[in-house]
Amino acid sequence: MPAQIAPEWKEPFPPHRIIGNIYYVGSKGLASYLITTPQGHILINSNLESSAPQIKDSIEKLGFKFSDVKILLISHAHWDHDAGSARIKQITGAKYMVMEGDVLVVESGGKADFQYGNAPSNLYPPTRVDRVLHDGDEVKLGDAVLVAHLTPGHTKGCTTWTMKAHENGKSYDVVIVGSPNVNPGYKLVNNTAYPQIARDYERMFRVLESLPCDIFLGAHGAYYGMEEKFARLKTGAANPFIDPEGYKNFVTEKEQDFRTELKKQQAGK
Ligand SMILES: [Zn+2]
Repeated sequence: MPAQIAPEWKEPFPPHRIIGNIYYVGSKGLASYLITTPQGHILINSNLESSAPQIKDSIEKLGFKFSDVKILLISHAHWDHDAGSARIKQITGAKYMVMEGDVLVVESGGKADFQYGNAPSNLYPPTRVDRVLHDGDEVKLGDAVLVAHLTPGHTKGCTTWTMKAHENGKSYDVVIVGSPNVNPGYKLVNNTAYPQIARDYERMFRVLESLPCDIFLGAHGAYYGMEEKFARLKTGAANPFIDPEGYKNFVTEKEQDFRTELKKQQAGK
């Protein structure tokens, strides 16, 4: 994401259960997910350097312990999703697991990023990675199994997480989208820092299209209409986070945005 901190990134949001053992513990603008198991928890996204107390607070409000976070994962190596990792690792002792293409960025505190490496406001404490992930790798804790899908372009190691959720005797496919966005200033043609960027975006869209999805989630709540769906939780009707159509529409729309931008850049505009 761009260098400015959006106010809603720091604004607290009520933590809530999404489905099964998956909970939202992020801020209004930055999604974090807690996957709970009797053997400890998995946290996806550490958010800003200042976010750790907010995430801790959300986890405790749900009745869980921050110190039970055993594994820390991210959507991708941008400061709005990973700047808090050093602090969270330090407090919880969680093992940090990151997709190969994002490892250098995470361990350099953002300096190795192809787009934002020279932007001081986008840098953060370098954080050591405990396990390097590759496409298709599984992350297991207790009875939870998450699959890491390499969905590159937005960052070189951008990761879309999938898992199964279980509720009322039914099983659901969960997709947590890494990011399909082409940020302002991204060069899709003649990018010397990331020559294969356009091909990577193509690959990412093929992967997103291929994933079965009942529960549509992502790195920012705005991807899936988090606030509006959260408001519907209270009505006690069907789980609003079950949204396969919303997922399909999102992927289609984002691919169109990518194609429009690619054409524009290929035409030299
Ligand atoms: Zn990003």
